[in-house]
Amino acid sequence: MRAQPKASHFIDGAYVEDAAGKAFESRYAATGEVIAKLHSATPAIIDQAMASAVRAQQEWASWLPVERARVLRRAADIIRVRNEALSELETLDTGKAIQETLVADASSGADSLEWFSAQAASLSGESVPLGNAFAYTVREPLGVCVGIGAWNYPTQIACWKAAPALACGNAMVFKPSEMTPLCALKLAEIFIEAGAPKGLFNVVQGFGDVGAALATHKDTAKVSLTGSVPTGGKVYAAAASGMRHVTMELGGKSPLVVFEDADLEDAIGGAMLGNFYSTGQICSNGTRVFVQKSILEKFLTRLAERTKAIRLGDPLDPDTHLGPLISEGQREKVMGYIEKGKAEGARLVIGGGVPGGEAFANGSYIEPTVFADVTDDMTIAREEIFGPVMSVLAFDTEDEVIERANGTEFGLAAGLFTKDISRAHRVAGRLAAGICWINTYNLTPVEIPFGGVKHSGFGRENGRAAMEFYSQVKTVHVALGGVDSPY
Ligand code: NDP
Repeated sequence: MRAQPKASHFIDGAYVEDAAGKAFESRYAATGEVIAKLHSATPAIIDQAMASAVRAQQEWASWLPVERARVLRRAADIIRVRNEALSELETLDTGKAIQETLVADASSGADSLEWFSAQAASLSGESVPLGNAFAYTVREPLGVCVGIGAWNYPTQIACWKAAPALACGNAMVFKPSEMTPLCALKLAEIFIEAGAPKGLFNVVQGFGDVGAALATHKDTAKVSLTGSVPTGGKVYAAAASGMRHVTMELGGKSPLVVFEDADLEDAIGGAMLGNFYSTGQICSNGTRVFVQKSILEKFLTRLAERTKAIRLGDPLDPDTHLGPLISEGQREKVMGYIEKGKAEGARLVIGGGVPGGEAFANGSYIEPTVFADVTDDMTIAREEIFGPVMSVLAFDTEDEVIERANGTEFGLAAGLFTKDISRAHRVAGRLAAGICWINTYNLTPVEIPFGGVKHSGFGRENGRAAMEFYSQVKTVHVALGGVDSPY
């Protein structure tokens, strides 16, 4: 097995196994090959991970901020040196094309650790003058934070959670999706090499029951989940039972609005990136592409030409644009949506099937697909598909498109293409989303906050905002005179 780790879990600075946990296999989505065999965490493993994190957190919080910063920075450097090996592992874990993983996964994790190392060193509070008293505030760590990840970006999700958590002086116990168990283990090794205390970042494997046990563990101070809206609802409720802090990075059905004055090639490029990158398995994808009627047919013709040129294939081949979906189950789900699109009257512009031929025989491949004539009430315009399926909807006016774009329970992201600067900011201001891109799509540099409104989530990852979600404010009031008591 070409990606077998030394053991399933990484706790207190070492690989740990407990064969009593439910056995599961990790498969390479491009070939169906079993690449690792692991065990889900037992209650004993969960307790071991939590106890080690509690110990590590106490030590870590006593370090100087600049010492903590150094560890994060060293971890970022190690990741960059090993980018190629880590990207290959990410490709095996997820099936995403190496062309992507080399630039978007481990490297974005390194960016996150580097940027939050600077935040760690500069974390400070405020001083409030009060006449014959003053107060100051300190940002304190929460304690042990639990991270629970989805399968689309296993390295990036682990880093986006660990970097701000550790920067604020917390420890983390991370549970990857059981579909992608491998990458977070490498991150745990790297933290130890970078000089972190043993137990500061532990990884335990498992299914939803392990996530649920972590979310309600007596020593868990916070839960940060990246996952679907239904799972988010369950985890949020479970965390609430213990008044735990949460960050919820959930699903979306984001609108991307193309006005008639837009640069057409840029708008098409944005729509393709926002629907096909990572084989469409990105939470913030702009899956409802609203195009102004006057340019609709021109848009569709050119979009079809460019989509036809996408190269599906072996994810480890550097020329491949798109690999398979994560699993056969995910392909069935996406194909189900494509069938619904056809049955409900959408016009299939391109794709819509499974590619034929030997190269695709054992992988969960699917063609990049575009539907036109999509209406707001169709299933493919309402539900998150999580595959390379773009829905194009026509619109006439600005007011109309804003109302329709906002007519969803989700609110993760939004985008718009126009050359009219006033309209760009006016529309961005009215779109109900946690992040809005103007004349681009799906860029998430670590410097800017990322997260959703409405059912798409709560809290923010990245940017300075993330520090607020991994720390709590303590106020210290200091009297400068005597106590004025009436008693
Ligand atoms: P799921 O919601 O199915 O799972 C997410 C994680 O939660 C997995 O590790 C899962 O374990 C775990 N889990 C499942 N049930 C519970 C529970 N009751 N308590 C605690 N943990 C639980 O999402 P997917 O893995 O299918 O990922 C796809 C979803 O993630 C999409 O909706 C996508 O939009 C969203 N996502 C959001 C992002 C964002 O930043 N907003 C980014 C990326 C994805 P297991 O897998 O073992 O069942």
